[in-house]
Amino acid sequence: DEVLYRDVAVVGAGPAGLMAARALQAAGRTVAVLEARDRVGGRTWSREVDGAFLELGGQWVSPDQTVLLGLLDELGMSTYPRHREGANVYLAPDGSRHEYTGDVFPAGERTEAEMARVIAVLDGLVEEIGVERPWEHPLARELDTVTFTEWLRRQTDDEAARENIGIFMAGGMLTKPAHAFSALQAVLMAASAGSFSHLVDEDFILDRRVVGGMQAVSRAMADALEEGTVHLASPVRTIRWSEEGATVVSERVTVRAGRVIVAVPPTLYSRISFEPALPWLQQQMHQHTSMGLVIKVHAVYERPFWRDRGLSGTGFGARELCQEVYDNTNHGDERGTLVAFVSDELADDLLRRSAEERRGAVLRSLSHYLGEEALEPVVYFESDFASEEWTRGAYAASYDLGGLHRYGADQRTPVGPIGWACSDLAAEGYQHVDGALRQGRRAAEEILAGTTG
Ligand code: FAD
Repeated sequence: DEVLYRDVAVVGAGPAGLMAARALQAAGRTVAVLEARDRVGGRTWSREVDGAFLELGGQWVSPDQTVLLGLLDELGMSTYPRHREGANVYLAPDGSRHEYTGDVFPAGERTEAEMARVIAVLDGLVEEIGVERPWEHPLARELDTVTFTEWLRRQTDDEAARENIGIFMAGGMLTKPAHAFSALQAVLMAASAGSFSHLVDEDFILDRRVVGGMQAVSRAMADALEEGTVHLASPVRTIRWSEEGATVVSERVTVRAGRVIVAVPPTLYSRISFEPALPWLQQQMHQHTSMGLVIKVHAVYERPFWRDRGLSGTGFGARELCQEVYDNTNHGDERGTLVAFVSDELADDLLRRSAEERRGAVLRSLSHYLGEEALEPVVYFESDFASEEWTRGAYAASYDLGGLHRYGADQRTPVGPIGWACSDLAAEGYQHVDGALRQGRRAAEEILAGTTG
């Protein structure tokens, strides 16, 4: 086996790991990046499927994601806005279909008022608790030991308001049922985008896309590293460490380094043998996080037919299989692409069915929003990160009930020469590419500020 000697070994060539490597090389350190897959980008991944360009993973950029926007500038890459002209569709709990324009879907006067009131309460909590260290706030334990479902029940007796707000956070963001995560976890998710209002505003949170796809950001970062820095198809199996440094053993190469940055989701730390074992609170922390589950569904049509009918392609329906749908037509593409999401418990059910049944059920749901034409796409594809060995879920990992206030304080603390970087440990940009970049940069700065190297 080849043995390399480097200042820093980075495990994982997703946005976090590549950003760390970029910052370290810019400061003159020698780096090796070991990546399990045969490609860079991690949970960002673009592919041609039956002749259609699809972004299978992370893709949208919001205006607050300033580290990502800055990096795009540095790399000479550009963005384009998500198509949003025309009326949106809201499918009400009673099955009725409503077309609307403006920010708030027509859920009825009382429900709309209750939603606005509860969202204001959430915005207040976000403002007070902040994004960096939610676990330190005096309310942390109280909010972290109540499920988001129960917290919503205490705020309003309006079932539709609870359901709609619950869906934004549960199906839409953490991709776990609202009874599976705490109110504090919901506050962190909202704080990571500045406010809950931002999170529920699709024109904010799903504002723009990257020309060429989000994975191209990772490819460009990798290309800008010194030649031979990134080693693909090199899953790291063992990290032997002491206060002096570490030996990082992958299937292809072994790296001896003064410092290590593990840039993989915390749910995958246990795939690596740490010798000696990590400290006990670290072990607990990892076991109290889990990946959410969402299936990102792509349907491509000869034309964006919904636009001809004055529809934007945006739709919401809490009781639908696809609770959200958007126009995802690529920059400069003649054909029209829809993207929809099937989340948490709905995804469990869907994944128990055959491929044919899944396709039928998803397209029927799309047709409820946009009409019969939705039933006949020329390309249909389901992004399946759940069965990818080096991800195992989507979009990201979050704490189970009570985990955030117990272990949040430990999640970014280095262990000996080992630092941690991932979007799932982020404050701003939590669970997003921007958060991954921020954490990659932070982990690199920790090393640069130290004496090792
Ligand atoms: P990852 O991207 O997961 O990268 C980790 C890397 O480590 C991977 O390449 C993996 O192969 C590698 N690895 C794992 N274990 C090992 C090992 N033992 N040895 C070597 N390598 C290993 N974010 C947005 O900003 N906007 C969106 O619209 C958006 N939508 C999403 C849609 C989907 C379907 C998914 C799945 C994610 C989405 N995200 C979105 C989230 C975003 O993609 C992630 O937050 C981001 O990719 C995280 O980057 P990361 O570097 O922290 O982790």
